[in-house]
Amino acid sequence: MSDTHFGFQTVDESQKASRVRGVFDSVASKYDVMNDLMSMGMHRAWKAYTVAVANLREGDQVLDIAGGTGDLARAFAKRVGAKGTVLHTDINEAMLRVGRDRLLDEGMALPTAICDGESLPLRTGSFDLVSVAFGLRNMTHKDKALAEMNRVLKPGGRLLVLEFSKVAQPLSKAYDWYSFNVLPRIGQWVAGDADSYRYLAESIRVHPGQAELKAMMKTAGFGHVDVHNLSAGVVALHVGIKC
Ligand code: SAM
Repeated sequence: MSDTHFGFQTVDESQKASRVRGVFDSVASKYDVMNDLMSMGMHRAWKAYTVAVANLREGDQVLDIAGGTGDLARAFAKRVGAKGTVLHTDINEAMLRVGRDRLLDEGMALPTAICDGESLPLRTGSFDLVSVAFGLRNMTHKDKALAEMNRVLKPGGRLLVLEFSKVAQPLSKAYDWYSFNVLPRIGQWVAGDADSYRYLAESIRVHPGQAELKAMMKTAGFGHVDVHNLSAGVVALHVGIKC
């Protein structure tokens, strides 16, 4: 058995997925409001940028992994139109339920499936675009997940990984102070759960930075990878093209 990170804790690999499930089971009902509060609305701009970079065409086949409450899936669905498909997936049923209900309230019914990003029950070479926003960080075997994302893409298809990354050095002290002092307090106040938001701050610190993730994507089979730093590297969008 190997060890892995769960935030700053070292846990047996076999425990990580259930610990992560506990976090998202706990926060699902408050996830959207917490996203707005914690990022001061900036997650909307990061996602809008991702949708612009995706530059989808009508009829495209899209897979959103770790799609949670469906922000990207909803935006993508508007772009691919009735001839395209956006498959909205996540490993966590509570998150998917909140997302599906929200989309249905807006008159949008998307195909939805519970899927582990590390082992996709999907055919090789089926998608024009695969996205994973703020999800890769939570996966136990990131290399395996990236290889799966590569497998299900068509040749020339693109993977968009939107994720917290390494912030520019001059901001790091202020960012650490905010992450470890303010975030858990907002979590306690709004969601009654400080620990899940402490995990969020810790999991960002142990996630690979821009260059390391780019190298991992190349190893997973992406011939070309571009990195777009957003908000001084608080978040980065990695765009990989399958050869
Ligand atoms: N993509 C959404 C967004 O940007 O708002 C949700 C992001 S949320 C921070 C992270 C999501 O990753 C959770 O919904 C969680 O259930 C999901 N997740 C964690 N491990 C996963 C895995 N192995 N496979 C698929 N989804 C996973």
